Amino acid sequence: MQRYGDGLRFSASDLANHLGCKHLTQLDLRAALGEIRVPHFQDAKLEALQERGFQHEEAFLAHLRETKGVEAVRLPSDLDARSAVEKTELLMRQGADVIVQAPLAADTWLGRADVLVKIPTPSKLGNWSYEVIDTKLARETRAETILQLCLYAELVGKIQGHLPERIGVVTPASMVPTWYRTNDYLAYFRRVKASLIAAVKNGGSRDSYPDPVERCEVCRWAPECKRVWRNDDHLSLVAGITRSQRKELVGREIRQVTGLASLAVPLEFRPERGSKASYEKVRDQARLQVESRGLLVPAYELREAGPELGLCRLPPPSPGDIFFDIEGDHFVGDRGLEYLFGVTYLGDRGFHAEAQSSQSRREGAVRYQGRWAFTEAQEKAGFEWFVGFVEERRRRCPDLHIYHYAPYEPSAVKRLMGAYATCEDVPAISNRATSLGEGHVF
Ligand code: SF4
Repeated sequence: MQRYGDGLRFSASDLANHLGCKHLTQLDLRAALGEIRVPHFQDAKLEALQERGFQHEEAFLAHLRETKGVEAVRLPSDLDARSAVEKTELLMRQGADVIVQAPLAADTWLGRADVLVKIPTPSKLGNWSYEVIDTKLARETRAETILQLCLYAELVGKIQGHLPERIGVVTPASMVPTWYRTNDYLAYFRRVKASLIAAVKNGGSRDSYPDPVERCEVCRWAPECKRVWRNDDHLSLVAGITRSQRKELVGREIRQVTGLASLAVPLEFRPERGSKASYEKVRDQARLQVESRGLLVPAYELREAGPELGLCRLPPPSPGDIFFDIEGDHFVGDRGLEYLFGVTYLGDRGFHAEAQSSQSRREGAVRYQGRWAFTEAQEKAGFEWFVGFVEERRRRCPDLHIYHYAPYEPSAVKRLMGAYATCEDVPAISNRATSLGEGHVF
C-alpha cells in the first residue's frame, strides 16, 4: 500500500495481506499515511524461499525456450515505476512472446506479473493477446495466488481490451501450468477488493486489534503485535489455547492470562463449544504460566496417571520396539530431501531377552543407527535400509512398535514409498500404512 496523491495505491500483496489479517491492513495503512514506521523484518526462511522462487521462474523460462522456442524479455531493473509500466505496455503492443516480471498498473492498482505469455487470440493489440502465469513453489494453489492472478488478469485486460480467459500456476512438480477460469474467481476477487477498500476508507479504523493468525509467522508487523500481546497479557500467550477457546473466554469477559489463571474450577459455565475439561486444562496451563513468572525454573505439575491417559495409552513394550526419526529439508531440489533416517533400539542382548527375565531385557544396550542422504539415490537407499531394518527385526519380534515424534514420519514414509515405487509390498509398510496416524505409534 502506498500513498498516491491524495489517495492510496494498492498491490496484490495488499489483497493477500487483507485476506490473512484485517489488522495488518490497518497497520499498512498507518504506515502508508506516515503515522508509524514499518519495522525491519528479516527472515532467513523467507529469503531462502524467495531464492528458490527465482530459480523456479528461471527453470520455467528455460522450459519455454526449449519446448516452444520462445525467448523471454526481462525488463531492465533500473527503470522507475512509471517507465517500467509503460515498457510492459509497449512490449505487449510489439507482440513480445514472453514478458517476465512485468509491472502493470491501472487506476489505483499496481501489480508485477511473473510471466505474460502471448497467445493467438485477437485483442486490441492485434492478432494476439496475453495470458498471465505465476510461478509458485507451493504444491497447492492458495486463495491469495488466485487473487493475485485475478488482479494481474484485470490489469492486462485493461491494456488488451479483454480479460484473459484463464490464469495459470506453474509449480516445480510440472512445468505445465494448472489453469483456472478467470470468470470463476472474479466475484471472489471483487469481494476481497471491495472489503480492502472499505477497510481503509476515511483513514481506516483505530479500534482494530491484532488477533493471532497463521499469517503472523511471515508478517513484518509480528514484533509490534507481540509487544501488544505481552503488554495486554493476551490470552494467546497461554500455551495450547485454541482460537475458539479464546473467543469463548472473551465472550465471557476473560481477556487476560491472569484472568484465566484465576478462574474457579470446576468451571461455573458450560462452554458453547468444546468440553469443560478442555477449558479447565487451559486454565491450569495459564495458572502454571502465571506462577512461573519471574522464576528461573518454570513451575510444573505432574499429571495424574491413569488408564487411557498420557503415556499409559502406550501399548505394552516389546523388546523389538524401534524409535524412529527422520529429518528432511523442503528446500532441496524440486521436492525436498529426507536427509537422515535414524533408529534407536535395544541391542541384541536386550532383543533376545523376550524369553528371559525383565532384568536381562533392561540390560540390553540402547543402540543407534542412521543413514545420511545427500542425493536422491542415497535418500532411496536410506529409505530401503530403514524398511529392511524394520522387516528383519519384525521377523524376529512380530509385536514390535515403531515410535516416532509426529505425523511427519508416517507421511514421509508413504511419500518415499510412492516417489521411488519401492517397498510397496513390504507388509511392515503397506499393511501398517492404514493404521498410521493412530497416535504416534505405528
Ligand atoms: S503479526 Fe499477525 S496479527 Fe499482527 S498484523 Fe501481522 S498477521 Fe496481523
